Amino acid sequence: MTANTAAKGVRISAASGDAEEFCNLINGEPVRSASGALFDNQNPADFAETVGRFQASTEADARAAVEAAATAFESWKKTSISKRAEVLNRAADHLEARADQIAREMTREMGKALNLARDEVMRSAQTLRFYAVEGQTLTGEVFPNDDADMTVYTLREPLGVVSVITPWNFPLSIPARKIAPALITGNTVVFKPSSDAPLTGYRLAEALIAGGLPKGVLNFITGKAGEIGPAITEPPVIRAISFTGSTAAGAQICRAVEFTTRTQMELGGKNPLIVIDDADLDLAVDLAIKGGLSLAGQACTGTSRILVMRAVRAAFTEKLVAKVKAMKIGSGLESGMDIGPLATAKQLDTVLRYIAIGKREATLLCGGERLAGPAYDRGYYVSPAVFTDVTQEMTIAREEIFGPVLAIIEVESYADAIAKANDTEYGLSAAIATRNPRLMHAFADDIQSGTVKINRTTTGNLVNAPFGGLKRSSTSTFRESGRTGLEFYTQIKTVYRGV
Ligand code: NAP
Repeated sequence: MTANTAAKGVRISAASGDAEEFCNLINGEPVRSASGALFDNQNPADFAETVGRFQASTEADARAAVEAAATAFESWKKTSISKRAEVLNRAADHLEARADQIAREMTREMGKALNLARDEVMRSAQTLRFYAVEGQTLTGEVFPNDDADMTVYTLREPLGVVSVITPWNFPLSIPARKIAPALITGNTVVFKPSSDAPLTGYRLAEALIAGGLPKGVLNFITGKAGEIGPAITEPPVIRAISFTGSTAAGAQICRAVEFTTRTQMELGGKNPLIVIDDADLDLAVDLAIKGGLSLAGQACTGTSRILVMRAVRAAFTEKLVAKVKAMKIGSGLESGMDIGPLATAKQLDTVLRYIAIGKREATLLCGGERLAGPAYDRGYYVSPAVFTDVTQEMTIAREEIFGPVLAIIEVESYADAIAKANDTEYGLSAAIATRNPRLMHAFADDIQSGTVKINRTTTGNLVNAPFGGLKRSSTSTFRESGRTGLEFYTQIKTVYRGV
């Protein structure tokens, strides 16, 4: 151990009570930051509780993580594919065996309901297992040619050191769907989780290291983006960056890198649900609530605009408001709650600011209050808001809010709905509720969105299917998830082999 390495999970005395300190994991070792400083990870349902204390890393710490990954690359690249797959499978076992504990920690650090957190742990394990198999089927191609003594074929090889930078809303499944394809294809990784939910990411890194990853193949580092961001995104050592987060941060990273750095940016959204006048309105209301308000509206694919045809607007709105008013709001650790707290103080400020704007622009039908009382005073709770009379030019119709806020926009026809749904800089996910097969078919063609849902919520995507956005929701280069998730992490060589 060097001077700043430490046993992981050191218990220390924190001002806000007893909280565990978590180290960076660099070159297979728990390492303290050279800064000697820590930051607190707080529970958004009870901000008096510190869930863990993490390293406020410096640029030098980040450079050490990149160097460890660079040193480990040649050997990991040559490690057999079946050994790489074994690591992923053992890490999946590790996560599944600790699913209850990790789910609880996830709920405590970012607020989502315990059952959703547990689902996320299991889905992340499934992702690791998927790539353990799918990664072994990635092949090149053989090309016919006129020279009988020559074989022409492509090889797929890993890129080198890649950076994985992730947000707080899916703190396990997003890192898993980026890291697993990177590792199985032979890359080494520097992983920076969100400063607002680093513990779950730590558990993933721990699982992979426990699963047998050699030293330096995965390096986990925490700290503020401004401090460590440049070192973990800088060319030429960093060959690729897989980033999920806000469009502003993604654009900033893209501007700073060179054309030799491959980027995969999964960014913001302003996702529409279109309700046609033939729709099953109970289903449509369900789609709006599940798609827009689960995770307190903090899903990148969450429904935020509801484009309803005039003929059913009143009936739809009445049903929606009645159901939204009946939603139970409380800690994700309590069973039976429909909606939990917002994940951070910053998120609370942002959401309340947009609700204030919405009140000036449109008509608030329910919710939109910061909740008070013994169950709420120490958490970031806002009652879900439904706005109506929303029009295209309004701020709440255009900007990503990332909170429990639904905006109802009246439309006259399918064509009007499509025009309004597409009138946005984003294109992440979009849904339609209709019984008309012709419109179902047309919608998939007409909507400018990377994910298209028909009589399903805008949220949710499969581990084995491609995922990503259009327009400013993504770099539109390489899709995540499924087989396409592997392609991002490999480069092609064309070989001409004579006898
Ligand atoms: P964020 O503020 O952009 O942060 C995302 C991650 O990037 C964090 O780890 C952050 O670190 C880091 N970061 C920010 N600027 C950076 C820079 N210049 N260099 C390196 N790292 C940088 O986003 P968030 O608030 O965590 O997440 C919410 C956003 O994510 C929403 O816009 C949502 O739509 C989007 N999202 C998109 C998807 C998708 O698949 N399209 C999925 C989930 C979320 P710190 O935490 O230290 O600041």
